[in-house]
Amino acid sequence: MTYDTENIFAKILRGEIPSEKLYEDEDTYAFMDIMPRAEGHCLVIPKGPAINMLDATPQQLAACIKTVHILGHAVMRGLGAGGVKVEQYSEAVSGQEVFHLHYHVLPFYEGKRMEN
Ligand code: 5GP
Repeated sequence: MTYDTENIFAKILRGEIPSEKLYEDEDTYAFMDIMPRAEGHCLVIPKGPAINMLDATPQQLAACIKTVHILGHAVMRGLGAGGVKVEQYSEAVSGQEVFHLHYHVLPFYEGKRMEN
């Protein structure tokens, strides 16, 4: 598979589709998931092209994890989450639906039962 520049997250990066921005730096962009599985469910993506973790460069992966770390602390501090789960699906068979690398940051809350 080659990287499709018309995927939804590429369009978000180009500003062609709106998104609820949470954080941005030179290499990454973080925004709310449109169908959150938990309060504060957000996504971290690299600005450069990468289909998924298997396709990404070590530099893209490192930049994304740095931003995941920032977002993880933000949901703990800002939303009072008790913990965070990070998910990354690579390839359709694993559940990947959008073919631009993304990490899910899923907050968990004490006393709240989550299906995520
Ligand atoms: P995955 O590819 O890991 O299965 O998940 C893709 C994620 O992207 C899903 O959680 C889905 O809700 C989210 N998503 C799909 N389309 C959009 C969109 O247009 N905007 C935003 N913010 N999230 C989206």
